[in-house]
Amino acid sequence: MPFPDALEALLSLLGERLSRSNPDLEAHGRSESHFPPTPPDAVAWPETTGEVAEILRICAAHACPVVGWGAGTSLEGHALAARGGLVVDFARMDRILEIRAEDMDCTVQPGLTREALNRELRDTGLFFPVDPGANASLGGMAATRASGTTTVRYGSMRDNVLGLEVVLADGRVIRTGSRARKSASGYDLTALMLGSEGTLGLITALTLRLHGQPEAVAAGICAFDRMEDAVACVIETIQCALPMARIEFVDAATAAAFNAYAGVDLPERPHLLVELHGAPATVEAEADSFGALVAEHGGAAFRWSRKAEERSALWALRHNAYYAILAQRPGARALVTDICVPVSRLAEAVEATRADIAAGPVPGPILGHVGDGNFHAVLLVDPDRPEELEAAKGLQHRMVERALALGGTATGEHGVGMGKTSYMAAEHGEGWQVMGTLKRALDPRNILNPGKLVPEP
Ligand SMILES: Cc1cc2nc3c(=O)[nH]c(=O)nc-3n(C[C@H](O)[C@H](O)[C@H](O)COP(=O)(O)OP(=O)(O)OC[C@H]3O[C@@H](n4cnc5c(N)ncnc54)[C@H](O)[C@@H]3O)c2cc1C
Repeated sequence: MPFPDALEALLSLLGERLSRSNPDLEAHGRSESHFPPTPPDAVAWPETTGEVAEILRICAAHACPVVGWGAGTSLEGHALAARGGLVVDFARMDRILEIRAEDMDCTVQPGLTREALNRELRDTGLFFPVDPGANASLGGMAATRASGTTTVRYGSMRDNVLGLEVVLADGRVIRTGSRARKSASGYDLTALMLGSEGTLGLITALTLRLHGQPEAVAAGICAFDRMEDAVACVIETIQCALPMARIEFVDAATAAAFNAYAGVDLPERPHLLVELHGAPATVEAEADSFGALVAEHGGAAFRWSRKAEERSALWALRHNAYYAILAQRPGARALVTDICVPVSRLAEAVEATRADIAAGPVPGPILGHVGDGNFHAVLLVDPDRPEELEAAKGLQHRMVERALALGGTATGEHGVGMGKTSYMAAEHGEGWQVMGTLKRALDPRNILNPGKLVPEP
């Protein structure tokens, strides 16, 4: 048994909240994406920050790897225990600690999911905007610096986390940031932890910025004959500063997947799905302005509604896009690409991706948070045909090369995990070595999510 001394000490700390049962190991060795199963040696369910600190002290003493686990929805194998050891599942640390409506902020535990938080906020007039397609945990979202459909208006986790409580590799507990809306006090350790993917510390509490629920919301959808017209419409919408709360692109293959999965009846053409927030008159005027831009770019009539049930149906469709696409090829696993480019370069990035997919053997519907210049191709590979995974990886590689050449990034929101480490040097140059220096300073024994994100020691 690997790490026997660490596991014995952890067992006496946690009792039945430490598991070595096969179902628990398997459940924490799977990812949403194409990575092979990688079960850890044990799974822990702490309930307090003090327990997390003690877990890390024990694991540091025995050089046992520790990998945080939120909802397990990350797409690049982030939460897989690549070097074995312990997975720390935050499911039992899922409470809201405080909501301060007058300051429009709240403090929560990391295992709370974004949907559960918004359910609790419903009657306060406030909401938390960051909405990755999955019902992820807020700790996992902070650790991956997640974003979603509303980022074009409200920002990503980078903009909506005011402070953190973090347990470091040696068991020390630090607090980063404050509840002030701005601060010039020293290094920004909150920013350092956001997107660190569990390699620098385990997050045990988050102070989040909340937003007022808009007085009026209008959501709508429109079809285009050509992908390039839809993308050109997005670019112009952003450039003329129409304040979209959401502006999402799906291609014809994704529209077909929606029809089959959700029983809707969309034309099998590229679409934009949008939302506007504000005062009723403003929202209507902005919907008209957007409709005019759609018409200028050859789109069909822009149909929009302020009815809550119609809006919910539209965004449920979008949030289920990944599963709708997966259902198009039963038994397939997905390699989900995730590039982001400056918005002025979006059209060429999307078109080159479309042509590349069309020339290859792997189906790959394209969709994305195009208002941010971010899009995905969901490459559907047959797990029994290794040549398809190789073809998909080749496609991803070319997409990343193009994104970097256009001044973009290898990952707009999903993060690095196991799948994107090989692009870190190309994207960050010497900056990647600096990430390694920070990692060694904070985690000299390399116990926190080893084998991910930073250069190997
Ligand atoms: C259908 C679907 C749609 C998606 N859409 C989006 C999207 O629109 N935008 C987006 O950004 N992502 C998206 N994702 C990816 C995923 O939902 C995000 O990466 C999310 O932030 C992961 O959260 P999680 O709770 O599942 O984290 P996990 O997968 O459990 O963990 C992710 C990483 O965070 C670390 N971690 C988890 N908890 C902690 C903690 N408390 N302290 C320190 N480290 C921790 C883990 O070790 C791991 O490295 C999507 C995924 C799916 C399946």
